[in-house]
Amino acid sequence: MALAYSWKVIKLTKRDYYEILGVSRNASESEIKKAYRQLARKYHPDVNPGDKEAEEKFKEIKEAYEVLRDPQKRAAYDQFGHAGVNSQQGQGGFDFSDFGDFTTFGGFDDIFDMFFGGRESRRRTGPKRGADLRYDLEISLEEAAFGLERDIEMTRTEDCDACRGTGAANGTKLEVCPVCGGTGQVQYSQNTPFGRFINVKTCSNCHGEGRIIKEPCKKCNGRGKVRKTRKIHIKVPPGVDTGSRLRVAGEGEAGEKGGSPGDLYIFIHVKPHQFFVRQGDDIVCEFPISFIQAALGDEIQVPTLEGKVNLKIPEGTQPGTLFRLKGKGIPHLRGYGRGDQLVKINVVIPKKLTAKQKKLLRQFAEISGEEIKEYKNFFDRMKDAFGV
Ligand SMILES: [Zn+2]
Ligand SMILES: [Zn+2]
Repeated sequence: MALAYSWKVIKLTKRDYYEILGVSRNASESEIKKAYRQLARKYHPDVNPGDKEAEEKFKEIKEAYEVLRDPQKRAAYDQFGHAGVNSQQGQGGFDFSDFGDFTTFGGFDDIFDMFFGGRESRRRTGPKRGADLRYDLEISLEEAAFGLERDIEMTRTEDCDACRGTGAANGTKLEVCPVCGGTGQVQYSQNTPFGRFINVKTCSNCHGEGRIIKEPCKKCNGRGKVRKTRKIHIKVPPGVDTGSRLRVAGEGEAGEKGGSPGDLYIFIHVKPHQFFVRQGDDIVCEFPISFIQAALGDEIQVPTLEGKVNLKIPEGTQPGTLFRLKGKGIPHLRGYGRGDQLVKINVVIPKKLTAKQKKLLRQFAEISGEEIKEYKNFFDRMKDAFGV
């Protein structure tokens, strides 16, 4: 299967509810409750005033819990994914991805339908694009720098393979609905404040499908959809950072009535590194050297993203000096070339000296013409420094 990748900012994605709560798919009710309580305590708006990200997270956690705590909703979610619970919920958990795109709102017709309550059901009859899914991927700085390929596991709604998405048991056929004769719509007249109207409404016998299932598929209970856990191979290009989103086209939830599947969005999170801090495409590390190395100069071995390299420390290097290792940073995500690595020199002053070391340093001071007194306390030090 060919996977297309592209980068763009997106808004409409939904994560797996189990993943949000960090529980397994067969977690007990009490495990779900416990996970919810722990997360709620952490992300509750009262604990994080003004933190938008925490607020969003809390909403997400609450939504996941509302579904998974309710055995009926949970069963529907297990079988049909977000589509299964959103149609049941009606209010509250509205999923904007149900709209697919926003171009379907057709002005007068839709307003007319809304007036007669026909809009909702009529929309159901057309093909509907599947929901987009979100997967959060945590990677190391090295992986962010050089890219990676990985198989990830995703649970999503797919067409039932036993009935090829039709909902009819293997071998049986869909029958033309006897109520609407296959059109999916029935006409009726209605008196309104504007006069008498002939209105068209969705056939309630076949729910606008025009066809009815005589013998529902046992595997999917006639829904034509099943939940499946899939391995998906993803390729993350070099140069990504936390906040990067990778779109894997067509790997979201299955569409309905011939609608195209949604997309899968990989949200990248880069773990903090032991030595390196990223600044754009440069990486910065602090490197400690002794005051002797700083004074006399030395050659040191500095870690980089690709192993150690030698770095010459010149005589008289001052604390905080930055050395630039050209092209040892993160490759640019768009375009060619790489950032640099900056090595910040940290000069370490020994905290404990032996008597002999002290003696030698005193001799050094003497040669340098520096007068060093034995200090007893803070006030004495102040006196010496400022002559008060
Ligand atoms: Zn089926
Ligand atoms: Zn019908």
